[in-house]
Amino acid sequence: MAAIRASSLGQKTAVIEKNHSLGSKLLLSGKGRCNFTNAEPDIDAFISRYRDNGKFLYSAFSKFGPLRTREWFSRIGVKWDEERGRRIFPREGGSQLVLDALLMQCRKYGVKIMRSTPVKALKVSSGHVDFVLTGNDEYTAGKYIIATGGKSYPKTGSTGDGYDFARQAGHTITPLYPSLVPVRTRETWPKLASGCDLKNVRVTVLADGKNVAERFGEMEFTNFGVSGPVIMELSRYLPDWMTRDDGTGTELQFSLDMKPTLSPEILTARIKRDIEKHSGHGRFRGLMRSLIPGNMMALFLELSDIPHDKPTDYMSDEEIAATVSLLKDIRMNVNGLWSWNNAVVTRGGVSLKEIEPSTMKSKLCGNLYFAGEILDLDGPSGGFNLQVCWSTGYVAGSD
Ligand SMILES: Cc1cc2nc3c(=O)[nH]c(=O)nc-3n(C[C@H](O)[C@H](O)[C@H](O)COP(=O)(O)OP(=O)(O)OC[C@H]3O[C@@H](n4cnc5c(N)ncnc54)[C@H](O)[C@@H]3O)c2cc1C
Repeated sequence: MAAIRASSLGQKTAVIEKNHSLGSKLLLSGKGRCNFTNAEPDIDAFISRYRDNGKFLYSAFSKFGPLRTREWFSRIGVKWDEERGRRIFPREGGSQLVLDALLMQCRKYGVKIMRSTPVKALKVSSGHVDFVLTGNDEYTAGKYIIATGGKSYPKTGSTGDGYDFARQAGHTITPLYPSLVPVRTRETWPKLASGCDLKNVRVTVLADGKNVAERFGEMEFTNFGVSGPVIMELSRYLPDWMTRDDGTGTELQFSLDMKPTLSPEILTARIKRDIEKHSGHGRFRGLMRSLIPGNMMALFLELSDIPHDKPTDYMSDEEIAATVSLLKDIRMNVNGLWSWNNAVVTRGGVSLKEIEPSTMKSKLCGNLYFAGEILDLDGPSGGFNLQVCWSTGYVAGSD
């Protein structure tokens, strides 16, 4: 986007790409369908999705925001539709169509694309980039835009090299974390329900026992912990609570409420009704069948102290209460974010304090710019992360 914009304004532009092909991560995006932006109409609401750092985007969005992005993509041949959660996807052709359309624009404006050319370093002196060093050559330009992405999915080429280049230019890199990522639990029992998708559940994050965040939606168990939309979204915030002010680790837990729309009283009444209905032949396992998905049964029975074949007629009030409290509060201890290989995006990056929000120009280096995921900006899933790329790329290429 930065190269397209700069070249469309008459600048002689080259893209230096270490991979043989461009846009590897773009091709993976939206499971190959490329959810390239979001149609949330309220710009304040849009910006709030990036946490506090979102404010940095007001200026770039005023020049090339989500609405202009949609119009622009239509113009370059990417027809789109709005889907659930205001996600915008190409009507057909998916990520490949988006990439082809971008490459077509590069060709139209004569952008030189240098493939299989890894940048090794920037040569910086007195607040000025002198040249870019690749394996064998030096390249000199009037302006340089670093758009090397973050650290997630390194097999796509985003191995975090750009952070080193930014440091070479004197920039601060805020702490980096995998984000929109599954979470490990200390407990190993989630693997008993690995692959089990839970819908309409609530997950609450407890930091040292205090409720700090909650989300409602879908979640799944994995071999090492938990994943799914609710967990991925909460993973964006976990670093906020991972360390206490004194530097020691916070006790972070998830509490899973399988029945968030039912109060403990209503759930108790329902269980008692079910017991009565099957009086004479009901078993605990059968009772649970109407309350939890079948592929979660093994895990639930493991966590409950009640034998699976216990006749429900003999369940005590305490056992009913314990079952209700398990349905409303399955506790898991967070044991860290899963790996960079599985993170959709990077939290942290080049400090926004050192960048002009209206141009993406470095405040430390006169001819250096940044665009995309390398910036200390990350959004939720829904097209918010690619929107950062379009908006910041556009303004970086405009200056
Ligand atoms: C599986 C997956 C699905 C996603 N789905 C969506 C989605 O649907 N919607 C959404 O909004 N976001 C999505 N994202 C996030 C989004 O794809 C990224 O935020 C976005 O691609 C970042 O773009 P970028 O141009 O900043 O960096 P990248 O796309 O990472 O591109 C950086 C480029 O720089 C190159 N490079 C790196 N170092 C060097 C070097 N030293 N020399 C030369 N070249 C170098 C890399 O090879 C790469 O081609 C998804 C991410 C993943 C991993």
